[in-house]
Amino acid sequence: MPRGDKLLAFSEAGLRRYGMLAGEQVEVISGGPFDRPTPTGEVRRLSELKLLAPVQPSKAVCVGLNYRDHAAEMKADLPGSPLLFLKPSTAVIGPDEEIVYPPSSQQVDYESELAVVIGKPCRAVSEADVPGYILGLTCANDVTARDLQRSDGQWTRAKSFDTFLPLGPYIATGLEGDDLAITGRLNGRVVQSSRTSRMIFGIPRLISFISQVMTLLPGDVILTGTPPGVGPMRPGDVIEVEIEGIGLLRNRLKA
Ligand code: MG
Repeated sequence: MPRGDKLLAFSEAGLRRYGMLAGEQVEVISGGPFDRPTPTGEVRRLSELKLLAPVQPSKAVCVGLNYRDHAAEMKADLPGSPLLFLKPSTAVIGPDEEIVYPPSSQQVDYESELAVVIGKPCRAVSEADVPGYILGLTCANDVTARDLQRSDGQWTRAKSFDTFLPLGPYIATGLEGDDLAITGRLNGRVVQSSRTSRMIFGIPRLISFISQVMTLLPGDVILTGTPPGVGPMRPGDVIEVEIEGIGLLRNRLKA
């Protein structure tokens, strides 16, 4: 993979197409995000594109309680090994798409998270080999129906509603994920502010651990956990996840 690109997906004439960010412009590339990006010579203005989630994962593997101070605010014990759960592919939405507030919940929370995008099939890899399987990094929001998470005792329903996984706007390649500023903003107000260096389990440990359990496929995403400051959203709210070196993912809630 070439280093230092920002890959994106957009919709044009009903097709899913891919491009590379070049300032305010987008260079359209042939093939998908897993191929060597080859410019077609076509250029689009970023502001005129309808961006899509940059990948279509077969699954999103998520890590719970991976920041000490978030575990404290949830009054949860620190896990001895990564605590895993899944979000379905059908929960994925792209930048500026709406998160739909489900009628069965009274408390829908945001969780700003760094997401790792897998680039090659990955099974039982060592921590040392993990970097070779990563395509890049993107922003994610692990939207959670907190009341249902508590009442159900396990997390599948609370984490899996359609629209509960905003992803994007870009996949940043060649970026080290171990010390990036991560910020969550609700209606413009900073509600989460941390650094990925405060994770309990870092990216190599997480992906090696997960790959001992299940094969990760190109486009699968690993959500690395949320820093402290999670809280509820209401219909009409705008939630932003911004990560240093990647970009800003913005979504609005609707009833
Ligand atoms: Mg989370």
